[in-house]
Amino acid sequence: MNHPGGEPGMVVAGLLDFVRKAIEPRDEALSEVVEDPRRRYQRDGAEAPELTAARRAARIESAAAGYYQMFCPVELGGGGLGHQLSFLSWEALHHRYGPGELLAYNTISHWANGPSVIWSKASPQLFESVFPRVITGEASGCFGMSEPGAGSDALAMTTRATRDGDTWSITGSKQWTSFSPTADYILLFAVTDAELSKARKGGISCFYVPMGAPGARVESIIRMFGEAGGREAILSFEDVRVPDENRIGELNRGFDLAMLGASQGRLYNSARSVGLGRWALERSAAYAQSRWASGKPIAEYQSIQNMLADMAVEVYAARTMGLDCGARADTGADVRRELAMTKLFATNAAVRAFDNAMQIHGALGLTNELRLHDGWKTVRAIRIADGTDEILRRTIAREVLRGRMDF
Ligand SMILES: Cc1cc2nc3c(=O)[nH]c(=O)nc-3n(C[C@H](O)[C@H](O)[C@H](O)COP(=O)(O)OP(=O)(O)OC[C@H]3O[C@@H](n4cnc5c(N)ncnc54)[C@H](O)[C@@H]3O)c2cc1C
Repeated sequence: MNHPGGEPGMVVAGLLDFVRKAIEPRDEALSEVVEDPRRRYQRDGAEAPELTAARRAARIESAAAGYYQMFCPVELGGGGLGHQLSFLSWEALHHRYGPGELLAYNTISHWANGPSVIWSKASPQLFESVFPRVITGEASGCFGMSEPGAGSDALAMTTRATRDGDTWSITGSKQWTSFSPTADYILLFAVTDAELSKARKGGISCFYVPMGAPGARVESIIRMFGEAGGREAILSFEDVRVPDENRIGELNRGFDLAMLGASQGRLYNSARSVGLGRWALERSAAYAQSRWASGKPIAEYQSIQNMLADMAVEVYAARTMGLDCGARADTGADVRRELAMTKLFATNAAVRAFDNAMQIHGALGLTNELRLHDGWKTVRAIRIADGTDEILRRTIAREVLRGRMDF
């Protein structure tokens, strides 16, 4: 399999070039479906089958070109490229393509849905039987941690896995699981030792479960922000049986695995925020120079300039934090504190950037056509997903109170 190598700038340029040639035409062909809420979603809220099929095709094409798996470890067959480059790649895609449901965003594997370091913890049997379809983009997954009664406090989960010889029986429910309605499998977290879990000393394990397994059901799709459908869902598992070889990572240490993934998710979400913030800033600066009010371009009013300046300062600061955080992660350092600071700052900066962008565009800024509301919704949701602002602040404060104030 071919992997993009070379300088970071060349990798990003290669990715953008690949997306422009191979994926942009597919996005254009699909735009009528994506932009029409009556066609984008089915009655139950699930996305249109042609959108799911197009995502899969985009993943497969990107994997064949070596981009989809470029951040997956070399020993698993991936490109082994680093965290800083991952930040730059996600940022570049979002900067170029802006808000919305675009196939372009399926060209790099997200840690929870595709080939990632998590798979280095799979048993040889599971790896051999499943991973070949994961790394080629044919199969994709979702990540089941949150439950109706366990969000920020994920350790309060009640989904149980009980051992019966070489088989596990899993019963419980999950909520907010992104991409679950269209996923082929779920990385499902369940309590395997109630005492350890109650004492908050582990007791949670991770299982690979096919979404079509008997007893696994998508109960309902969650509609958010006024949408007619969505990608998050409530799932139920009733005596779902999986062999022990489907357990990923050490027994009772599943939470560590989840945190490993969440760290990658925080860098990804920071990069998305920076890319989208840059997109919003550039559009706002261009509009401010072309829109006239009371005899001159609104860009000449200081209140408009102040908004543009604030957006620029925050995009620059968030980008610098993301690049530094990625570089530190590439040395193998523990960057939990830096990741929490970066995600907290970058997502909030992006929310402010979209709010300012709407203000600068006046009523036009509120139209669907400009997609600013879409960008706002994306970054607003990330202030909750993958560690809320409050949980990130808790992580940062804990580190500070431990004396870690060296920056
Ligand atoms: C778009 C989206 C996609 C998601 N995708 C997934 C997914 O794929 N898989 C998955 O498992 N989960 C997913 N989630 C769930 C996400 O991880 C949770 O929403 C998040 O952990 C917060 O949990 P909660 O919503 O139950 O809020 P709660 O935990 O109930 O929190 C409510 C409020 O209380 C605050 N709070 C809670 N505890 C504390 C504390 N100790 N100190 C201070 N404040 C606190 C929170 O910050 C928040 O403001 C997704 C969420 C969203 C919005």
